[in-house]
Amino acid sequence: MNPLTVGVRREDEPGERRVALTPDGVGRLVAAGMTVVVESDAGTAAWFDNNSYAEAGAELVTTGELYDRADVVLSIGLVPPERLRAGQAVVGMFAPLRQPGYAADLAARGVTMVSVDGVPRTLSRAQTMDALTSQANIAGYKAVLVAANAYERFFPLLITAAGTARPAEVLVLGAGVAGLQAIGTARRLGAVVRAYDVRPAARGEVESLGAAFVELASVADARGEGGYARALAEDEQQAQQRELAEQVARHDVVITTAQVPGRRPPLLVTADAVKAMKPGSVVVDLAASPLGGNVAGSEPGRTVVTGNGVTVIGADNLPATMPTAASAAYSRNITALLLHLVRDGALAVDTGDEIQAGVVVTHGGAVVHAGVARLLERTTS
Ligand code: NAD
Repeated sequence: MNPLTVGVRREDEPGERRVALTPDGVGRLVAAGMTVVVESDAGTAAWFDNNSYAEAGAELVTTGELYDRADVVLSIGLVPPERLRAGQAVVGMFAPLRQPGYAADLAARGVTMVSVDGVPRTLSRAQTMDALTSQANIAGYKAVLVAANAYERFFPLLITAAGTARPAEVLVLGAGVAGLQAIGTARRLGAVVRAYDVRPAARGEVESLGAAFVELASVADARGEGGYARALAEDEQQAQQRELAEQVARHDVVITTAQVPGRRPPLLVTADAVKAMKPGSVVVDLAASPLGGNVAGSEPGRTVVTGNGVTVIGADNLPATMPTAASAAYSRNITALLLHLVRDGALAVDTGDEIQAGVVVTHGGAVVHAGVARLLERTTS
């Protein structure tokens, strides 16, 4: 039987510097009996050069050869559908619940789509495959560095002959994976940190990192399903915004990370709240998206200084700004997933398996993921 050929593509989105598989990942797949072909310069922007792939046992190929030869294409972002052919599989972070049209396109072409962001997150045997977590961790860490860089004072308490600098007061809104990493990083830089989340379980986690938990009277508990938050009702959201505005105004730096699955990010910091902040304050919105973010007026990839001197930074793909660490983690995740999916040298699709039911989106010419199929039915009916 021919060994499975795994292809590693060079990402082509502007600003995307990560690569799906590092040389370390190549070694693991080769050891498992797979052939690995790598598009020339696929890892160069993440500081993994062509030689390091060759030394790990991969073959460097042109773009055309990559798509011709690969049985499975490993990616981070969307692969142009016209590159792919029937019977081929593609693995990446495709957010099919947000962009179901891409899944429909790949299904029509007979391509098997595996989206690693569908890994069931609370299943302990799937934790090594959880790319959403590995990348959110990086985003939370980098958000603090971005904020510290834009904040034109110190984060720690400094007592010097030239005077005493008080520590920065940092507020983290949303204490999931990215928020908790932001809390830890801001604490390590010496800031005084407070954090808020709508899930009561977050309190213990926030406090264990040495931050204070901010309690709001308006929304005490908005637990949703699967460990996520639920969307707030309109009146709850307005009450939350009013209460948060007072907190926001008291802080020098605000980092927002709140997300609700399948919804646009909730607006936590209104334009009035930003207006009430002190000049020199900094806001980093990790939830900034084309649909809006957690902060009024934030846009991904844009930094705005408001009339009252507040720097509002719309974060845009922060994991891609730490491509070496982000690729190493993603490569571990995707290698673990691939080894789970491959039996006897071929992809063994079995949506009866809990992990596969989450990640296999299209197969055999159809959309097989229940949630994505439902979404497509709704949009076409
Ligand atoms: P996420 O990216 O969906 O959201 C980030 C945070 O925003 C969440 O903590 C959420 O509660 C919060 N949020 C949503 N709406 C809000 C609002 N209006 N105001 C304030 N905060 C709001 O979440 P995530 O970081 O992916 O993590 C979600 C959950 O999954 C967490 O409980 C996390 O600990 C859990 N998780 C568990 C595992 C595991 O067990 N291996 C792995 C990953 C995540």
